[in-house]
Amino acid sequence: LVTRSDFLHALEHDIKPAFGTAEDILNQYVARGIINWGPPVTHILEDGSLFAQQARATDTSGLVSVLIEGPPNSGKTALAAQIAKNSDFPFVKVCSPEEMVGFTETAKCLSIRKIFDDAYRSTLSCILVDNIERLLDYGPIGPRYSNLTLQALLVLLKKEPPPGKKLLVVCTSSRRQVLEEMEMLSAFTTVLHVPNLSKAEHLLNVLEASAVFTNAELKQITHQVHGKRIFIGIKKLLALIDMARQTDERMRVIKLITKLEEDGALEDPGMA
Ligand code: ATP
Ligand code: MG
Repeated sequence: LVTRSDFLHALEHDIKPAFGTAEDILNQYVARGIINWGPPVTHILEDGSLFAQQARATDTSGLVSVLIEGPPNSGKTALAAQIAKNSDFPFVKVCSPEEMVGFTETAKCLSIRKIFDDAYRSTLSCILVDNIERLLDYGPIGPRYSNLTLQALLVLLKKEPPPGKKLLVVCTSSRRQVLEEMEMLSAFTTVLHVPNLSKAEHLLNVLEASAVFTNAELKQITHQVHGKRIFIGIKKLLALIDMARQTDERMRVIKLITKLEEDGALEDPGMA
C-alpha cells in the first residue's frame, strides 16, 4: 500500500530535481533553435516579450499566464520555451506530462501544486506547463479527462503569488477547442496562436536555413511547389528535411516533394 506520505517522501527524496540554470532547462525544449520562417514567429515572440515584461512590472498584478495554442507539430513547446528564455526569469520549472507518466490523479495534482509552491518562493518565477490536454489525460473518445487535475490547474492559474512575487506561466496546447469547453481559456491573461507554415516563402525560408539544398535545388523546389497549397508544422518539416539530408544528392529534391505530398502538406489547389 502506497500512502500519501510515501508519495511525499518520494517527491522530496527520489525524484531528482532538474539541475542547471533556467537557460539549460529551457534549451532542451528548443532543440533545433527558432527559425524565423515568417511574420507569425516574430509576432508571437514579440507578444511573448510584452507579457513577460508585464509580469515583471512592479505596478501590475503578480501573475501573467500565456497560452500558446496551435496544431500538432507547429512549434508550440519551442516557442513557449523561447518566450520563457527571453523573459530572463531566474527561476524556471517545467510541468510536462512526460514527467508524470503513470502518476495517479492525486500524485499529478500534488506534483503540479509543488511546482507552483516552489515558484511562489522566488521573486521572479516562470512555469512552463507543456501540453495541457495530455496533462489532463484528455482523450477524444468519450470524451474523458481528469477533472481533479483540471480543477487544480484552474485554481493555480488564477491564484496570485504572494505579495512582491512575480509569476509568468506559459502553457501549450493543440486543443484550443477542448480547453474552451472546459472553461479554461478565460483563466489565461492571453492566448497566442501558432500557425502552420502556409506559404511557399515560409517553406523556402526553412529550407534555406537548413543549408541542406544547393541554390539550384532551392530553385527547383520553388518551381515544384508553385501554385500548390502548403500546410505543415515546423517540427514535421524539419523531420522531412532531415530525411532529405540522409538521401542521395540526386534524389534529395524528389524525396522531399514526395514526402510533403504524402503527408498532405502539399496539395493542388483544386483538392479539398
Ligand atoms: P507537439 O504538437 O508534438 O507538442 P510542438 O508544436 O510542441 O509539437 P515542438 O516540440 O516545439 O513542436 O517542436 C518544434 C521544433 O522545431 C523544435 O525542435 C524547435 O527547435 C524547432 N523550430 C525551429 N524553428 C522554429 C520556430 N520558428 N518555431 C517553433 N519551433 C521551431
Ligand atoms: Mg509540444
